[in-house]
Amino acid sequence: MPADTGVNWNLSAGQVSSTCDSAIKLARDTIKQIDSTPADRTSFEGIHQVENAVAAMNDSLVAQSVLSQLALDKKVRDASTTCNEKQAAFGVELSADPIVYAIAQRGVVTAANAKDKKLAELYVESGRRAGAGLDAASRAKITKLFNQLNDLQIAFGRTLAEGQSSIVISKEEAASLPPGFVKTLKPAGAGYRVPVNESTISIFQEHQRVRAARQRFFMAYNTRGGQGNVQRLEQAVAIRDQLAHLLGFKSWAAYQLDAKMAKTPTRVVTFLDQIDTKLLPKAKNEVATLEQLKRAGGDTSAFARWDYAFYENELVKTKYAVNEDEVREYFPVDKVIPAVLGIYEKLLSVTFHPITPANAWAPAVLEYSISDNATGKPIGWFFLDLYPRPGKYQHFANFGLRNGRVLSDGTYLRPISSIIGNWPVGAPGKPALLSHDDVITFFHEFGHLMHSTLSTAPYETYYGTSVRTDFVEAPSQMLENWMWQPSILKKVSSNVNTGKPLPDALIKKMLALKHVADGYDYTTQAFYATYDMTIHSSGPKVAATAVWFDLQKNMTALAAVPGTYPEAGFGHLMGGYDAGYYGYLWSRVFAQDMFTVFQKGGLENPVVGTRYRKDILEPGGSIEPDKLLVAFLGRPVSYDAFYRDIGITP
Ligand SMILES: [Zn+2]
Repeated sequence: MPADTGVNWNLSAGQVSSTCDSAIKLARDTIKQIDSTPADRTSFEGIHQVENAVAAMNDSLVAQSVLSQLALDKKVRDASTTCNEKQAAFGVELSADPIVYAIAQRGVVTAANAKDKKLAELYVESGRRAGAGLDAASRAKITKLFNQLNDLQIAFGRTLAEGQSSIVISKEEAASLPPGFVKTLKPAGAGYRVPVNESTISIFQEHQRVRAARQRFFMAYNTRGGQGNVQRLEQAVAIRDQLAHLLGFKSWAAYQLDAKMAKTPTRVVTFLDQIDTKLLPKAKNEVATLEQLKRAGGDTSAFARWDYAFYENELVKTKYAVNEDEVREYFPVDKVIPAVLGIYEKLLSVTFHPITPANAWAPAVLEYSISDNATGKPIGWFFLDLYPRPGKYQHFANFGLRNGRVLSDGTYLRPISSIIGNWPVGAPGKPALLSHDDVITFFHEFGHLMHSTLSTAPYETYYGTSVRTDFVEAPSQMLENWMWQPSILKKVSSNVNTGKPLPDALIKKMLALKHVADGYDYTTQAFYATYDMTIHSSGPKVAATAVWFDLQKNMTALAAVPGTYPEAGFGHLMGGYDAGYYGYLWSRVFAQDMFTVFQKGGLENPVVGTRYRKDILEPGGSIEPDKLLVAFLGRPVSYDAFYRDIGITP
């Protein structure tokens, strides 16, 4: 195994720009040449060459693409952002190219095997969805509409990001808020100004004792984006509807689902309706419990949406009594990382070898190589970049850095992946202490990392996690279950002071808490997803706010509040999840169904783990998810395990 990936992560801004431009130019020029020989015109070879040209470009731009999120130097980050924009524009150009589309269509009929045929089919699908098969005038119209849509989406997102909504609270109203949070607030008059956004809503609403302050926060939060964003959403819906019809679909939802596992809006709506119908009584009961808690505390006003988070937190504190800080003591990072890696090594029959010193983009990044236990052969590499630094990506996610593929000399180009995170930094001389949620997230993201390194797909286009987007979360959602198993929780925990694993009593309380709000949470998710489906399958003219009020009243335990228009702040609908929000719930069905195989065979059983590796991880997107699942399950897919998990009797 080469000691290192061979990628130069320490490029200057000038190097990023120049190598980016030349790699894109090379790919574009190469693809222009294809179709000029008889072999290209009569065989699979043409589309194979297109694929190779694009993959070669991506392989030479591994660092150039990801440094926008990771580089220490802002100039390098900016050059990388520009490179990503250029690559994206080239991708759009390629999908809509009628010549490439024709080459792909020939590839479908001349492919010699299923894996080649799938590649050609995916190019045909992408071409059809971009309008590559239409006449020049229609293609021009489609490009114009996609650009208009893009502008609306950017304006929607920018309005939200720059909105700076805030409320002013008095000193008395700040009294019940965590002191650490109050310290971050700017003074305003005799009190404080509280920013109203996604990062402040939970902490404020859960701890705010004064009902009127909760109400002010709620109203500000649910009018973010303003009427301007309501109009942008309605305009986007109209453009999407027009695009769908030009591209041969009945609605935008039908267009989007055609390239997904779910296939049709009807299948999705039926699924969402089923969840909602079965869980709505439970959601109403949960709210009734909170209402009692509120009355018992002496507040006899009607229960409103702005009361929910506060009284749910009261319930958790009083009835379940889980102390977050106590739990953190059991998850020091220096214990959690090796324990999590060890579970994956055993389960999937692989070994991770630390590489020191790491050749990475910043100090303190860990580098590993992966080898296969059965053959001893090298598989690929990964990096763990887990702590915040200025200018770095701000969430916690798996970034696949380079897809694997078969090179023209027949050798396999080994994949590179990473986890980019922002764990809290420990006190001086102490390891960082993680919450249970942090540990679950790490385990989830490492599941994606395994998908993006253990795949053996021959083509970059459908390598690893390049699967249908409503299936991509299923493997990691399945793996989250490990972090709720008492025996495994004991393995990954080790008290920072005593070295002891989590005690049974604490685990029991943590588990009891898991399903405390399933009714409320799942009906809310089903409502969001149904709203998304409804506005994207009701024609060009949609009254965005009226539809919201109507559906929320019927599908959830608490109706919408007059004067609000929450859809103006619903970024998913204008940020790439349009007619796709259902995916979060949808993929859980397959996650829980796959989990039953491990429940039967053992959560640490390498025999089951190896089957999972072979049947689910290795094929990547070369086989449709429905077929992967049947192979792994040994039977058709069932919704039962998902329903049981959320308290529905199937
Ligand atoms: Zn995920």
